[in-house]
Amino acid sequence: MNSQETICAISTPAGVGGIAVLRLSGVGAKSVAELLLRSADGKPITLQDHRVRHGQLVDSGAFVDDVVAVYFKAPHSFTGDDVVEISCHGSLYVQQYILQLLCNCGARLAHPGEFTMRAFLNHKLNLSQAEAVADLIDSQSSEAHRLAVSQLRGGYASQLENLRQQLIDMAALLELELDFSDEELEFASREHLKELVVELSTRVQKLVDSFAMGNALKKGIPVAIIGRPNVGKSSLLNILLNDDRAIVSPLAGTTRDTIEETMTIDGLQFRFIDTAGLRNSNDDVENIGIERAYKAVEQARVIIFVADASQDDNEYADDFNELRKHCNIDDKIVVEVRNKCDLTSNHPGKGLSISAKQGTGIDSLRQEIVSRVRMAMPDGDGVMLTNVRHYEAMKKILSALDEVQKGLDINLASELLTIDLRDALYYLGTITGTVSSEEVLSSVFSRFCIGK
Ligand code: GDP
Repeated sequence: MNSQETICAISTPAGVGGIAVLRLSGVGAKSVAELLLRSADGKPITLQDHRVRHGQLVDSGAFVDDVVAVYFKAPHSFTGDDVVEISCHGSLYVQQYILQLLCNCGARLAHPGEFTMRAFLNHKLNLSQAEAVADLIDSQSSEAHRLAVSQLRGGYASQLENLRQQLIDMAALLELELDFSDEELEFASREHLKELVVELSTRVQKLVDSFAMGNALKKGIPVAIIGRPNVGKSSLLNILLNDDRAIVSPLAGTTRDTIEETMTIDGLQFRFIDTAGLRNSNDDVENIGIERAYKAVEQARVIIFVADASQDDNEYADDFNELRKHCNIDDKIVVEVRNKCDLTSNHPGKGLSISAKQGTGIDSLRQEIVSRVRMAMPDGDGVMLTNVRHYEAMKKILSALDEVQKGLDINLASELLTIDLRDALYYLGTITGTVSSEEVLSSVFSRFCIGK
């Protein structure tokens, strides 16, 4: 469907560039662009579908800029509407001037995400794919890019479709029984249905479980560096980042707040968080820092527990248990490190020997972190939940399937079982957008920038 209102926006980032691209979408896209385009000898230009035209952009006949225009006729465009993209020179003045001219000729400024919303409304993309477009635009590491592409066109999209098909098949079997309810027919053996529900629940549970890692991969995996004061946490952060970001000082307790820095290693984006040292302190400010350190641990996926290489094993174990007492670290990747190995000939029992000062063992530490993270990622096509909205919906699907399972256990009538199955299908539909409300759409698309 070609939208009646024609919208326009600058689709390249705000600022000066070699070129900038303005986009028009809607039934008037072609005519609005043609009003402003002229050939080199001043004649009007007729745009042709999927053809590039070089020409002049004019304001009441006066030359504004040399431009290139491409016309995509509906429905074969990103939005499904008629679309024209105009590439002009990247001056801020020229961009704004042309945008104003497009509005004067009958287009209006697009809202954030409106191009992608039209693509969704015109069935070019489903909702989860539209969200993947935003993730793709935001992606800052190869892993985040891979996840966005999987959601856009890969394994994730087909998993959702597969799940939907299985739920529909099951619901259809049960509904068929309703049509023949007088005859008390059972089209699906209850044992078979139970097996199916268990299989589906296992798959959904796997997706739910993958969210913690999927979300971390998308936003940068939080890594908390934790340990006693003065063990070299700030020095470690600095050397990991090859930078002097954290203050290194021989005084215990200098890092009183948390410091966060991002870096990409081997295609994975990490958010390293240096924390205040863990010790019993009477200093209120330091205690607040320690509380924050525990909070950082709670929110981290990876914990680098740093201790001094010269510390004896019993004391080390006590410190580690202290951390366990304050935080639940069971589902986290914990990398134990013994720093200042340059100062001791001791070979500590536990932990990777490093020297943050001399750079010894730092590459091995990086490799250890990356390989432990990769081990925690799913195999194969690596389907993971990365979106909190999908995560919430999947949890609801899981509890609906749980109800079906309970119903089957107590031999509940088919019509009651189908209610729960329909619920599961409903929540799945909210992910792909087959069921959606104004509220959901506006919250999804408001995340986009204008022009996307
Ligand atoms: P934090 O309190 O745990 O953040 O520790 P800092 O990074 O501030 O370091 C405390 C002191 O230990 C500083 O004087 C550092 O120079 C020193 N230090 C850190 N790492 C090493 C190391 O591997 N070897 C040696 N010899 N000194 C280190």
